[in-house]
Amino acid sequence: MKRRNFIKTASASSLALSIPPFLPLGEVSEYSTEELMGKADVALYGEGINLRKEAYESFLEMKSAAEEDGINIKIASSFRDFYRQKSIWERKYTQYTQTDNMEPIDAIDKIIEYSTIPGTSRHHWGTDIDIIDGNKKVDGDVLVADKFEVGGPYDELKLWMDINSKDYGFHLVYTENPRRRGFKYEPWHYSYAPISIPMLTDYRRLNVLKLLQREDILGSEHFTTGFVRTYVQDNILDINPELL
Ligand SMILES: [Zn+2]
Repeated sequence: MKRRNFIKTASASSLALSIPPFLPLGEVSEYSTEELMGKADVALYGEGINLRKEAYESFLEMKSAAEEDGINIKIASSFRDFYRQKSIWERKYTQYTQTDNMEPIDAIDKIIEYSTIPGTSRHHWGTDIDIIDGNKKVDGDVLVADKFEVGGPYDELKLWMDINSKDYGFHLVYTENPRRRGFKYEPWHYSYAPISIPMLTDYRRLNVLKLLQREDILGSEHFTTGFVRTYVQDNILDINPELL
């Protein structure tokens, strides 16, 4: 696993202040809080691809290889900033609490089956993609697990990715493991591990509760300490172990 070199020049005292005890000493955050929360203006590459440079280059190689096998890897969704995620969150929250008359807590639980709280999405990082097979004509929603099962329109894509995607650094994030908590199985969501692993390492140093409390997000008054702790454990960290 390629990992970026961490800056090792900070003094011992500043390290002691900035690093929580569960992370090894000697590693200093490389990614800013703004960047990790989807609020920074980062350089993204490829029209309709929008990935960080190294991830973009590897994606293109993977796409060409798949093309030779008759599969047209097409990005359904890639980088999404904080504000875009906020609008998705608030649209769902309003629909569930007002149109569907759900209790706020139930609405939040339903949203986080598939969608993230703004500021906590891996799609903020420029490393994660949702993909489909562009050669297949499909009716209705494309990002539905059934469509990636055997007999579904994207079964060949899924099979190809199972065999080949890791060679290009792309790993499934929300696996089918029944013991996994957090987001449901997403056979379409892949992450470029060489960058997203160090980003997740940095993300774990953030005080997510505090950061979310600063934001003006619909329903955020229900983000209690316990809720956010469980959310971080289940939805952010209970992912494919290859990405930890
Ligand atoms: Zn996704």
